[in-house]
This record gives sequence, structure tokens and C-alpha cells, in this order.
Amino acid sequence: MPWGLRSSRAVGRSGDIDVSEHLSPEQINELRGELERQLSRLQKSMKVTDEALRTVELDQTAVGRLSRMDSLQNQSLSRGLRDREVVRLSQIREALARIEKGAFGVCTLCDGAIPFERLFVFPEAPECADCVS
Ligand SMILES: [Zn+2]
Repeated sequence: MPWGLRSSRAVGRSGDIDVSEHLSPEQINELRGELERQLSRLQKSMKVTDEALRTVELDQTAVGRLSRMDSLQNQSLSRGLRDREVVRLSQIREALARIEKGAFGVCTLCDGAIPFERLFVFPEAPECADCVS
């Protein structure tokens, strides 16, 4: 039961109550389920990107100049996609790690509470809306 840890950190450094208290265990479970779904979807799409990147490498020697240019263009699209996927993967994993630590829903920049409404839309969000705007 990770919740057992909460009592020991119920008082924050400035005497505030633990901000992750604004989420009920049910809400956190729901968001954890959503994060896990997004993680498995992302891992599937990363396999497709892997294949796209690999295919282009094989193509290099076997295709003519025009299709090679196509391939290079596709390759840079695939690389851009890969970069975004890697960022997202780490955001989702960090969000799941914050759930384990009981720190989920707390802005990593200002330590403020991230409202459930925002987490419902962006469960992987590490910052509150004020800090990203
Ligand atoms: Zn913030």
C-alpha cells in the first residue's frame, strides 16, 4: 500500500498540506490506467517507427536517385516522430513513477496541485497549466 507513505509526508516544507491530497485514490487509479494504455499504444507505434527507420536504411543501396530522395525525406519525418515519441515515453514513465512515489498531480516546477481536469486531458503532464503557459 503506497498510501501508507502519505502520513509521513503529510506536512510540506512550508507547512502546507500534501498537495497530492487533492486527488482521490480512485482518480489516481483512473489516470494510472490511462497512462498504462497510452504507454502500450506508444510502444506499438514506436515499433512501427523503428521499422520505418530500418526500411529506409535498407533502401539506400537498392533504389534510384528520386526514390532515395523520398526515402531521405521519410527518414527525417520518421526521426522527428521518433524524437517526439522518446520525449512522450519518458513523460509517461515519469508520471507513472510519480504515482508510485505518491507525488502524482504535483507540479514539478512550483509544487502546486495540478487539477484533475488537466490530468484527465494530459495525465503525463509534469507541470501545472500556469507553469507551461
Ligand atoms: Zn506549476
